[in-house]
Amino acid sequence: MSPADFVSPLHSQESDVLIIGAGPVGLFAVFELGLLGLKARLIDTLDRPGGQCAELYPEKPIYDIPGWPTITGQQLTDRLMEQAAPFEPEFRFNQRVESLTRRPDGRFQLVTDAGEVHVAPVVFIAAGAGSFTPRKPKVDGLEPYEGTAVFYAVRKRSDFEGRDLVIVGGGDSALDWTLDLLPDVKSLTLVHRRDKFRAAPHSVAAMEQAVAEGRMKFVMGELDGLEGAEGELTAVTIRNKAETTAIAADRLLTFFGLNIELGPIADWALDLEDGRQIRVDTEKFQTSTPGIFAIGDINAYPGKLKLILSGFHEGALAAQEAFRIARPDEKLRFQYTTSSSELQKRLKVA
Ligand SMILES: Cc1cc2nc3c(=O)[nH]c(=O)nc-3n(C[C@H](O)[C@H](O)[C@H](O)COP(=O)(O)OP(=O)(O)OC[C@H]3O[C@@H](n4cnc5c(N)ncnc54)[C@H](O)[C@@H]3O)c2cc1C
Repeated sequence: MSPADFVSPLHSQESDVLIIGAGPVGLFAVFELGLLGLKARLIDTLDRPGGQCAELYPEKPIYDIPGWPTITGQQLTDRLMEQAAPFEPEFRFNQRVESLTRRPDGRFQLVTDAGEVHVAPVVFIAAGAGSFTPRKPKVDGLEPYEGTAVFYAVRKRSDFEGRDLVIVGGGDSALDWTLDLLPDVKSLTLVHRRDKFRAAPHSVAAMEQAVAEGRMKFVMGELDGLEGAEGELTAVTIRNKAETTAIAADRLLTFFGLNIELGPIADWALDLEDGRQIRVDTEKFQTSTPGIFAIGDINAYPGKLKLILSGFHEGALAAQEAFRIARPDEKLRFQYTTSSSELQKRLKVA
């Protein structure tokens, strides 16, 4: 799947549980909630699912996932997406959850930095080490263009359609978006400081073929400056050793890697340990606020191990309590997937 597959329109259907973070633990929680008949919506600052597994070590093998003697970070993400698919989770990518408050009707409200408002009776915080935020290029005068001509992620394809686009970067995000946006733009130039890339070889080969066919350009060098006025970008300048060249462009997209920061979670009036981890009980993995749960790397309790398998267990137990809150009039029954026709129907295998 490419990141473009995750830029989805906002659906209006209600969710039972809002999950902050689409890392491995948030993804598996979708499955556990789905088995109980609960619908989840996930919000993540990244442009794709997988959290640390997909962003920090997609090609590295993991050896301690039960039932998988070896599986890479990306493969695990793909398997978790496949396992969650029958429950049709809704994804909101490229958005950071900024605030979490309780409404007068008792439900929780999340507001993202894109201005979207999400409401549900239960919230799972599966935010890992915090939100990944893009590193900005070190050039002067970026601010007037940010969000109109200069972007660090793709939120709306329409921002780039019919434009003269320069993409800077040499990793998977830069290459994936180069190939995804190429058919829609007026012109596209990929800029990287060297002609070796950290991206998947098949993406590099596809980009090189597009260059050979004259459908786009590749320029070796580093971003040096921006030209334009009043928020209207007209060109970017690229430096390669002593030489500086200008490339006509009205859109710039840079992929310079990500920083991890706890971000706004620290302001949500939850009981924290060392100012970084959210304290939970070990029965339900609930925080100091009933209805808000914290699972995976973000939580703290005696004996906590920051392992993926611990987060899976935490999500399963939190889902039980989420059911009691979201369906107060229904009885929770313990069932096996192997023998319950009800669960198999939900899994779409029966
Ligand atoms: C190099 C490396 C190797 C590792 N190897 C192993 C291993 O072999 N075995 C193992 O079990 N574990 C391993 N780990 C640890 C493992 O990756 C983590 O335990 C796991 O990723 C935690 O999952 P998570 O879903 O809790 O959080 P994460 O994977 O960190 O995902 C959290 C997500 O939440 C999002 N987020 C945070 N705040 C917000 C917000 N305010 N709004 C929107 N989104 C937000 C983030 O963008 C992120 O995508 C390794 C980690 C690293 C770095």
